[in-house]
Amino acid sequence: MRENNYLSDQDITELKNKITLELNLINQRHQETANVGSMAKEELSDPVDEANSNIQVSHDLRMKNRESFYFKKLKKSLQKISDGTYGLCKECDAEIAKDRLLARLTAEMCIDCKEESEMAENSNFFDRRSKSLGKTLNELATR
Ligand SMILES: [Zn+2]
Repeated sequence: MRENNYLSDQDITELKNKITLELNLINQRHQETANVGSMAKEELSDPVDEANSNIQVSHDLRMKNRESFYFKKLKKSLQKISDGTYGLCKECDAEIAKDRLLARLTAEMCIDCKEESEMAENSNFFDRRSKSLGKTLNELATR
């Protein structure tokens, strides 16, 4: 395992504080939504309200899923800090720029690898499109 010499101890502390703060914010928000949810339930009377509340609940659930994903990534980042692997690209092991980490605390790839993987995703997308388009054209031609 390589040690991360790029970020200073001070940087690491700063990033760690930010991550911890994010985690606390999410925790706090979850507690608030939990309270609001139980209050709303007691006030339910007619079906329209109930339907609206169900929509609200599924919206909250989606938000929670997205947040818990982020939550897990934040936790992982904290773990990486204690392992000394935080800020290293998982693809090429390069050091991720501090600015990038500050903007995106859970970044796991350096900007080069990130762009490369996004480009690969896009080209896959176009491949799929042109393949299905070709299929459609073939189908039309044999009709
Ligand atoms: Zn990389």
